[in-house]
Amino acid sequence: MRAYERSGEFLVVLPELPQWFIVDGIGKEVADAILQKKSIRETCLILNGKAKQADIKATYRDLKMLLANRDNGNDRRISSPLTSKATVAMISLTRRCNLRCPHCYVDAQGMRGKELTVSEHRAIADNLHKRLATNPLLEYKVNLTGGEPFCHPMIMDIISAYKDAGFEVTMSTNSLLIKKRDMAKLADLGVALSVSLDGATEGSHDFIRGKGAFKKLSGRLCP
Ligand code: SF4
Repeated sequence: MRAYERSGEFLVVLPELPQWFIVDGIGKEVADAILQKKSIRETCLILNGKAKQADIKATYRDLKMLLANRDNGNDRRISSPLTSKATVAMISLTRRCNLRCPHCYVDAQGMRGKELTVSEHRAIADNLHKRLATNPLLEYKVNLTGGEPFCHPMIMDIISAYKDAGFEVTMSTNSLLIKKRDMAKLADLGVALSVSLDGATEGSHDFIRGKGAFKKLSGRLCP
């Protein structure tokens, strides 16, 4: 289990499941106790006085369910409702973004640190497909996200790398940087775009995405 702390909250990642969740400090201690195979009673004793017993018990039950497949191998994992048809690998390929949304969970801004090259993405794509795509009955997808993935100057080559490896490609994007000349290629490659629209009015969308964002987006969605 890996845990990353920010402002008193923890992003807990269990790559072997795979599973992730966000909890406060008490939640993280409960997760630790579950992974150490402590019973609900023992966990309540460990955390005695730090939170209400009822809250500890409820958190224990929730997290226990999330962690239930830990020791049961791949077969059990892929039969769960969320992964029965498709397994999706999320690839965050840049932290750059053209917008500054207040809720942004990656604090997307300008370039930070190094980004992977196209050939590194190609190696990851091939490796991932070899290791992940083991069940012919399932679909295997890669969701390219960021930041804003179209901030990456080589984005079309990166998409091709994942397509060539055998993945269906979906993308989370605000769509504002997609070039007209790339639209036909995206359609040819069968890339599914998931575009953020925060409400039906200019006021609600621009409140989140910034002034002028709704007009630009609606011009793209309904040209
Ligand atoms: S568009 Fe997405 S990545 Fe960009 S700032 Fe908004 S939430 Fe963050």
